[in-house]
Amino acid sequence: MSDIIHLLPDSIANQIAAGEVIQRPASVVKELVENSLDAGAKHIRIVIKDAGRTLIQVIDDGKGMSATDARMAFERHATSKIKTADDLFALHTRGFRGEALASVAAIAHVELKTRRAEDEVGTLLKIAGSKVESQQTISGAVGTTISVKNIFFNVPARRKFLKSNETERRNIFTEIERIALVNPDTEFTLIENDVQTLQLPAANLRKRIVQLQGKAINQQLIEINEQTTLAKIHGYISTPQFARKGRANQFFFANNRYIRHPYFHKAVMTAYEPLISASENPNYFIYFEVEPDAIDVNIHPTKTEVKFEDERTLWQILMVTVKESLGKFNAIPSIDFDTADAPDIPIFDPSKSTSMPKVSINPNYNPFQTSSGGGFKPSKPKLDWEQLYKGFENEEKLPSVSPDTDTNLFQTSHSLQGDSVVLSSPEHYQYKQKYILTSVKSGLMIIDQHRAHVRILFDKYLSQITNRKGVSQRVLFPEMIQLTSAEASSLTEIAEDMEALGFELSDLGNNAFAIQGIPSELQNVDAVALIHSLIDKNMETGSNIQEQVHESLALSMANFTAIPAGKSLSEEEMLLMVNQLFACQLPNHTPDGKSIITVISDDEIEKKLKG
Ligand code: ADP
Ligand code: MG
Repeated sequence: MSDIIHLLPDSIANQIAAGEVIQRPASVVKELVENSLDAGAKHIRIVIKDAGRTLIQVIDDGKGMSATDARMAFERHATSKIKTADDLFALHTRGFRGEALASVAAIAHVELKTRRAEDEVGTLLKIAGSKVESQQTISGAVGTTISVKNIFFNVPARRKFLKSNETERRNIFTEIERIALVNPDTEFTLIENDVQTLQLPAANLRKRIVQLQGKAINQQLIEINEQTTLAKIHGYISTPQFARKGRANQFFFANNRYIRHPYFHKAVMTAYEPLISASENPNYFIYFEVEPDAIDVNIHPTKTEVKFEDERTLWQILMVTVKESLGKFNAIPSIDFDTADAPDIPIFDPSKSTSMPKVSINPNYNPFQTSSGGGFKPSKPKLDWEQLYKGFENEEKLPSVSPDTDTNLFQTSHSLQGDSVVLSSPEHYQYKQKYILTSVKSGLMIIDQHRAHVRILFDKYLSQITNRKGVSQRVLFPEMIQLTSAEASSLTEIAEDMEALGFELSDLGNNAFAIQGIPSELQNVDAVALIHSLIDKNMETGSNIQEQVHESLALSMANFTAIPAGKSLSEEEMLLMVNQLFACQLPNHTPDGKSIITVISDDEIEKKLKG
């Protein structure tokens, strides 16, 4: 038998290594732009075609490369930035492993044009699948232009993993945004399919934030600045009034590199805690500068997790810094209780005279008289069934509801399958404005009102999206919604489905949109906040599988519009809700798997009360 172990050919080894660095077009953009910054570029143009699938080009006015360096740059572990292993750990910025260009060249067609100021002529180099195809001298401006065409042309498996153009575009935006936020004094231009979609002139940090997030953010920015022996912390946080539901713009950077840091996020949130409600999120742009050896540099270039030495102390410093800055800007507690959802508490007004409660007595009342005719008869609550089911006539799965029979009051199988629950006479009790309690054959049924409504609305919205039958209602005074580029790009992904639900948005340019119409059943909702939350959720989900996008959209809509805990419900409303819930195919759980119903059996109740 012949030997079975053999070395992989270089080209394949390179492709495998490339997979670590280059996962998607956005990774190429990141690597190329960072190289341009390292070369001292002050103007960087990024040209993208088909979300980077066919072309990613980065044009810089940096220091350029010599003809020899141009060729060397594509060798694995070729870097001009570190010479010894020690350098690797004394990094102020990125991890230089000299792998980016080699990796890109392994999986794409690459063209490099470069010239240094001191050279008369420049170099043009063409590489495909790690093989140099040609090198020639050319004339051209000082600086470097790298064009990366047909990414993954030789790795079909990876090409298949690319997501929708919208998702890949959004990833590119996200990378550019992070880089632009640490290099405000560099101009960035993004051109996509021949259209300029981003133009960020050199500015200071505050202006750069405004360029990226839209003018509206300017008035909410509070500067933070703190110097300790452990770290310098600076940047901007937002006033509590501007905190909003859903995901906000929250950025941490350490030594000019974007990082994720859930632990420090908690520190910021702790500082905001007394000022905003738990579901709201502030914007923040926070920059740490620490000694390079106080940070566990994760030299893997694609990772964003970083560990600091002495994280607990930094946590405290950060928390206090944010808290003090909030205090200084007079953002002292003006808690805005969300009164819309709060239970109604009657206000006692001492200036108004009160009258004794009146008791009316029916003199003809005979407790032993059960027949009709004559005496007082306790009436069943009158329900306007037509009114209650308005808008639901078309629902196919509606259970039979027969308000006038006295049999089958509550019938339920043990599996709580909806079809067998037929409500005819209300026997409901709302507990703590959160649960609907009702007796069923086998015991006491407890229904979480908010979750029940989420399930009902989810089914409804999902069917509207898939059947495209949402009804829109034009608004009289269209509100404007200002998005960031990444958000706008996310919006276009779900725009069609939002239209199916009844939203009408018109593009005003510069990532601003006018809300011309909203789904007709949405009354008194903050449309801007709702749309933000839909976009945030979509960005979080990042799926391009249509079914998942639909479900996630329907769920965020449902979560946003479902009646909250704390809302008191009339008996009719409870009855309607229970009936609608059991008309759903899966009434027991919310779409995201939370329990809606529980039954405490008579046996359990009896057992508890024994003795
Ligand atoms: P690294 O950035 O880790 O050094 P890369 O593979 O990204 O590795 O780049 C290799 C080398 O190519 C760099 O060290 C640098 O000398 C050179 N280089 C890459 N891009 C540029 C550029 N835009 N301008 C000038 N030199 C560049
Ligand atoms: Mg590099």
